[in-house]
Amino acid sequence: MDYFLQEVSEQQISRERLKARELRKSRWWAQKCSTGVCYYCNKQFAPSELTMDHIVPLTRGGVSSRSNVVPACKECNNRKKYLLPIEWEEYLDKLKENLQ
Ligand SMILES: [Zn+2]
Repeated sequence: MDYFLQEVSEQQISRERLKARELRKSRWWAQKCSTGVCYYCNKQFAPSELTMDHIVPLTRGGVSSRSNVVPACKECNNRKKYLLPIEWEEYLDKLKENLQ
């Protein structure tokens, strides 16, 4: 078992998941998605294509607060889920290089 998972209780994670669900229904979130821009790759998407991503994942102690959730496209969201933290950092660096 990943040791991070032992640090955060199931209870805390389900509480934060619930908060995220509420946040997803808020006007604040609708406004954030209305721009259609992915927080990570800065590409333009239809607002309905964006998903809610926690910058610090719930399993690592992140919370569902306005400062920790961002709109992300499916590709970025999937990469973040499946890459190791270090690989994710490399992916972000590559995106930044492409923007320059
Ligand atoms: Zn993206």
